[in-house]
Amino acid sequence: MIKYEIKTGCSFLNEKARQQRDIGFKPKLKGMRCGKCSEHTVIKFVETDFTHVKAVFNSCCSEFENRIKDKLWNKN
Ligand SMILES: [Zn+2]
Repeated sequence: MIKYEIKTGCSFLNEKARQQRDIGFKPKLKGMRCGKCSEHTVIKFVETDFTHVKAVFNSCCSEFENRIKDKLWNKN
């Protein structure tokens, strides 16, 4: 199962992270699960500077992380 955490330093960035999560991540990753591991995968949004956030992956295993990244960033 994929969980999301939003841990930025300010409410503006938290809002930005929530939008990324709801628009960019959740619809694409919905229903994905690792067939091997029982631990959760956590995608954490943190600030990169005062105006940007990025996603940090704490995946159960590297295979699942690769599947997630393929889903997010590959075009097919
Ligand atoms: Zn796994």
